[in-house]
Amino acid sequence: MFIKSHEISHPLFLEKEIQLSIKRIDLIHPYISGNKFYKLKYNILEALKQNTNTILTFGGAYSNHISATAFAAQQKGFKSIGIIRGEETFPLNHTLTFSKDCGMEIYYISRKEYRKKHTDSFIKSLQKKLGRFYQIPEGGTNKFAIQGTSEILDVKDTQNYICSAIGTGGTISGIINSSSDNQKVLGFPAIKGYENLEKDIKKWSNKQNWKLITDYHFGGYAKISEELIQFVKDFYHTHNIPLDAVYTGKMLFGIIDLIKKDFFPKGSSVLAIHTGGLQGNQGLNERYNLDLPHNL
Ligand SMILES: *Cc1c(COP(=O)(O)O)cnc(C)c1O
Repeated sequence: MFIKSHEISHPLFLEKEIQLSIKRIDLIHPYISGNKFYKLKYNILEALKQNTNTILTFGGAYSNHISATAFAAQQKGFKSIGIIRGEETFPLNHTLTFSKDCGMEIYYISRKEYRKKHTDSFIKSLQKKLGRFYQIPEGGTNKFAIQGTSEILDVKDTQNYICSAIGTGGTISGIINSSSDNQKVLGFPAIKGYENLEKDIKKWSNKQNWKLITDYHFGGYAKISEELIQFVKDFYHTHNIPLDAVYTGKMLFGIIDLIKKDFFPKGSSVLAIHTGGLQGNQGLNERYNLDLPHNL
């Protein structure tokens, strides 16, 4: 499915002679939003092929991947199980309420246990307790996910720079794989510990035309600042495009800051991938008393 990008305008871009476009894959589905749609697509097909009736996955209590998996599993007739990091909190947040409403069975494990979640012995103990399941890792990144995220970028997306927010690196790896060699792919990690990220991306892609921009994580995953929130609000009012504060807000803040700092040569065209994540804004709104746009 080809999703057209559209150019956004601002006096800054004119002054710097930069063309900035956004590819709104966040609009692909209201609940299986943005990159999670692409990451789940071939995993769901694989689960069907393996004849399992249950899909199990992992995530934090506000995870976009958890709610997307819950909805996708229900649509395709699977039972879903979410293994959630940390303690159960009351009342249940919007992400988990939505996931439960989609029929997801939820189990909470301690942060210590959570670190062992992908080990054989932990998976075996889950199987003993929960029966047979198709397992999707945290954040949804595996080879089937990369197959899906390779479909985000199209040959018709001919911009000089392609930008994406990064969590586990699955999305950017697919984008790198389908980019052309004369394009440069820029990844904006939303996390602070990106030491392993380069290694992880290299696991999925042999191409060299990419670079991590590590200055815009705002202190780390799900860390936000007044400045970032103000940016997300202003961006919405100026361009009528809602962003999330965990991923896409940080990336666009970074892109615009880089434009200001003349990072991109004059005449460059830049494509930002809007990977979605708006469901998480509902949680941020409550925690910080905000009114960011969301879709739950
Ligand atoms: C999950 C997510 C990402 C990170 O994707 P990875 O493939 O884990 O790098 C980026 N943006 C949004 C909106 C997300 O929900």
